[in-house]
Amino acid sequence: MRVTTETERIAVLTLSSEIVRAAGAFLRDEGFLEILPVLLSPITDPLHHETYAGSVDFYGAPYQLMKSMIFHKQIALRTVPRIFCFSPNVRMEPPERAALGRYLAEFVQLDLEVRDASRDDVLALGEGLVVAVLKAVGERCPDELARLGRNLKIPSAPFVRIRYADAADRFGEPFDDALSASIDAPVWVIDFPRRVREFYDREDPGRPDVLLDMDLIYPEGYGEALSGGEREHELPRILDRLRRDGIPRERVSAYLTYVEKGVPRSAGFGIGVERLTRYVAGLDRIEDARLFPKIPGDTRAI
Ligand code: ASP
Ligand code: MG
Repeated sequence: MRVTTETERIAVLTLSSEIVRAAGAFLRDEGFLEILPVLLSPITDPLHHETYAGSVDFYGAPYQLMKSMIFHKQIALRTVPRIFCFSPNVRMEPPERAALGRYLAEFVQLDLEVRDASRDDVLALGEGLVVAVLKAVGERCPDELARLGRNLKIPSAPFVRIRYADAADRFGEPFDDALSASIDAPVWVIDFPRRVREFYDREDPGRPDVLLDMDLIYPEGYGEALSGGEREHELPRILDRLRRDGIPRERVSAYLTYVEKGVPRSAGFGIGVERLTRYVAGLDRIEDARLFPKIPGDTRAI
């Protein structure tokens, strides 16, 4: 649906607020500490896909608006073992992406990271988080769901897992939309090939070019929910990945300084809050999931 009335808008904002509350409560119960977000840094997620640079002149030094806190999460784990953050990110996607209805150029992701965790650990955590949030929304916001005509199904864990290569065989590439339209409960895509992901996703030591990472895909055509995985954390492996992925090491030198001092083994993920709100509320377009949306290419936004 599209939001056209103030009553519907209030219902969506109430769902979004409950999502944030329930997710934070779930993670605190799981022993996580919430850290405050970083907005500007010399290091941020290089991302695999193209976005315009969000550069800022920081007292003469080239800083960037955060695309994700991936490196800060790894560095934070030197201090605290389980962290999460509601992290505002700016990814100036090409304007033609706006038509897809699932991209905002400014969005918030719930970004988390766990020291000494495996991918299996964070898959289970992601399932617990999604189920807990959907249950909380169902119990605490039935009137808002009814107002939006949304009949939300609570999935049960564990979610189905599909290997990237198998999904690509079945649907072709990219397959998010076709896969999402074909399922009626969230599904994990695992084992992305190195060529489509970032250098920080850990390569399986036993399977060259296969990563120990994942995406969660919403059902009903809502597409990607979250991305994450195990991380590269050892300096020689990171330098090797930078070389093979064609990324100059100077671009992430501030990060490498911490890797030299030691960042722990970890796994984690980031789940988009507006995309989760869109799914929960059953919205056609992501700009209806928040106030002050920045649609890619639309310079009328405030
Ligand atoms: N935050 C994500 C992660 O933890 C990456 C992303 O933002 O796409 O892997
Ligand atoms: Mg992603």
